[in-house]
Amino acid sequence: MTTKIITIVDQLSASLVPLIPAYTPAPSGMLSDTRGRLLRDLRISVTDRCNFRCTYCMPKEVFDRGYQFLPQSKLLSFEEITRMTRLFVAHGVEKIRLTGGEPLLRKNLEVLVEMLAALKTQDGKPLDISLTTNATLLPKKAQALKAAGLSRVTVSLDSLDEATFRAMNDVDFPVADVLNGIDAAHDAGFTSIKVNMVVKKGVNDQDIVAMARHFKGSGHIVRFIEFMDVGSSNGWRMNDVVSSAEIIRMINAEMPIIEVQSNYTGEVAQRWAYADGSGEIGVISSVTQAFCASCTRARLSTDGKLYTCLFAQSGHDLRALMRSGKSDTQIASAIWLIWNQREDRYSELRTEETARNKKVEMSYIGG
Ligand code: SAM
Repeated sequence: MTTKIITIVDQLSASLVPLIPAYTPAPSGMLSDTRGRLLRDLRISVTDRCNFRCTYCMPKEVFDRGYQFLPQSKLLSFEEITRMTRLFVAHGVEKIRLTGGEPLLRKNLEVLVEMLAALKTQDGKPLDISLTTNATLLPKKAQALKAAGLSRVTVSLDSLDEATFRAMNDVDFPVADVLNGIDAAHDAGFTSIKVNMVVKKGVNDQDIVAMARHFKGSGHIVRFIEFMDVGSSNGWRMNDVVSSAEIIRMINAEMPIIEVQSNYTGEVAQRWAYADGSGEIGVISSVTQAFCASCTRARLSTDGKLYTCLFAQSGHDLRALMRSGKSDTQIASAIWLIWNQREDRYSELRTEETARNKKVEMSYIGG
């Protein structure tokens, strides 16, 4: 067990201080990588801590009392996050997702939301700011987050079956706490709340149809996510994946659904609407139908490292640039170079072999 912990801590420090090129074009909002993919989304992990120990994400055997979470001094401050975000927005980012760890564990998160909401996209529009959360703290926080300018909420919920859910979060949190969080978000004025269910074969696949049925007609959108080989600690095997095609087949057999067009280019989930008009579901098929070709997402870790892929093995230490007094222009140039050279397409190349790579943990780089 000790060996595993050391591996992950090593992984956190696997980063390079980025080069600052002598000359780069001024940010135009159209920065693209080697495969022509623009930089449009930034996922920000605001904490590496979580109050759940989901077996597929932060298994207890690794993230136990001995695990070294980042000390406060290493976290990006709200001012640093806002400064970074402003530089990414200049390069074209329009959507921000606050995640973690459990982002609502970060004190006064609504203050950060308010700071980010004051930024504008390259064409002067408000940023789309969303939050991914396990919802347990939403009853306390939803109103303040809405007032601060949060645009959207995504809630993770892996089963409505009490025993299955408690076993998956592994800290005995009841389903009712998450459902109360969803209601609190709804009462605060959030609409089209997304509910993410990670499906793992033999663990919660028997609960897929019940999940779809529960939220059908509610206005909320359940999205079924294929179990992925993120990080190095969740023991992923291809055999544990239930394909989106199978999920669609199971739901369609009980409640007919039809595929509908995506809302925008690069949307992660494929959309399916109930034939009776009572709402929609989504499937996220990172394993069986890789969507690297349209991936416009960058990730900023809790301690300010830039990752250009969810399955990355190392990051680019932007915090080092900030804390050594580099100017906005210099940091924007470093970001330009990193994205300009980006080649990532891990999900297109995935094999059982690559799944064993030492990748960064999702709780640290942000889901
Ligand atoms: N704590 C927050 C939450 O529960 O939503 C945010 C962080 S969590 C890492 C973000 C999302 O990643 C959750 O929906 C979670 O279920 C998903 N996730 C984590 N590990 C995963 C895996 N191995 N495969 C697929 N999805 C995963």
